[in-house]
Amino acid sequence: MPGQFKTEAVVLRTFRYGEADRILHLYTAERGRVGAIAKGVRRVKSRFGGRLEPLFRVNLVLHQGRGELCTVTQAETVAAHPALRERRDSLERASQACDAVLRLLDSEEPNPPAYNLLCRELQLLDQDPGAATRAHALAFRLKLLLAAGFAPELAACATCGDREHVGGFSASAGGVVCPGCEAGSFPLGGEAHEFLVTALGRPLSEAPDADPAALRQADRAIAETLEHHAHVRLRRVA
Ligand SMILES: [Zn+2]
Repeated sequence: MPGQFKTEAVVLRTFRYGEADRILHLYTAERGRVGAIAKGVRRVKSRFGGRLEPLFRVNLVLHQGRGELCTVTQAETVAAHPALRERRDSLERASQACDAVLRLLDSEEPNPPAYNLLCRELQLLDQDPGAATRAHALAFRLKLLLAAGFAPELAACATCGDREHVGGFSASAGGVVCPGCEAGSFPLGGEAHEFLVTALGRPLSEAPDADPAALRQADRAIAETLEHHAHVRLRRVA
């Protein structure tokens, strides 16, 4: 439906377009993924200033015409996250988070848990240099899987329901598996399993840590779940 609408959004990615414009890939609170054009934004005296850069959280007024792209008519900063841009690790983790949202959540359906999770992740990375860890990045990805409806089964064997003897992970089965159902699985140790359960159950600010071998297993479980169920391939974090 053509017309104007307001929404809060995170700028995920931008491309230069024409002489002075920029195409924006936005993740919005109200409408999920939205593509927009910001006209004249690359001019020195642009009324948008520097607000339409990646990782900005902004309040926008968008105009939807007949084309695929909305046009930005107003933009106001909610959070610029200046501190994370100063730290290479934090910046890299923030870019990974935006990339994961870009790849995993491509519909125009609003998804408030995913939107809030992304905002929280950018806020944490901005406020706390210690949040730019592999463990934290994995916790974010796992929670994003949950928000997108692809969380793996972790409480019991995904095939037979056995709660006692799970020791493997199978994306095609949908989560952890027992020795009797382990075809196509890889070994998932107790620490990796515990990491996944705890990361899913806690707020992002209290994401657990684990040793590198456990994190690699957790990373593989998350990556294979993404590939198998969402057909999305992300660069590994651990
Ligand atoms: Zn089983």
